[in-house]
Amino acid sequence: MTKTKKLNFEEFAWEVFRMRGAWRRLLAWHVPDDSGRCAGCHEDQGAGHPWPCTLHAVAVKAARFHEEWIALVRQETEPSGICHGCGGPAEGLVCGSCEQEEREAREKEESDD
Ligand SMILES: [Zn+2]
Ligand SMILES: [Zn+2]
Repeated sequence: MTKTKKLNFEEFAWEVFRMRGAWRRLLAWHVPDDSGRCAGCHEDQGAGHPWPCTLHAVAVKAARFHEEWIALVRQETEPSGICHGCGGPAEGLVCGSCEQEEREAREKEESDD
């Protein structure tokens, strides 16, 4: 692990949001085990951290960013050349990988109904 600039909570959640799908993995990993400790932190650090842990909170925040982003993408009609998801170049509203993620999220929503 390399030393990185210390991010505040929001910035860290934003970075997690921008790592496509990372927050979903965090949400799936950082769940309480039988004794109310975080299963994900237990694996990473060898000691059970009381759940909810920081990474769980970060993942929840990143999921909120994701929801807001999905809502934004669906409102927009004019391509700006910049991806709404990752800020990278995009021919449409979002780049290919973000478009796929948005489509998957939409399909998931529709199948939840
Ligand atoms: Zn954890
Ligand atoms: Zn993108």
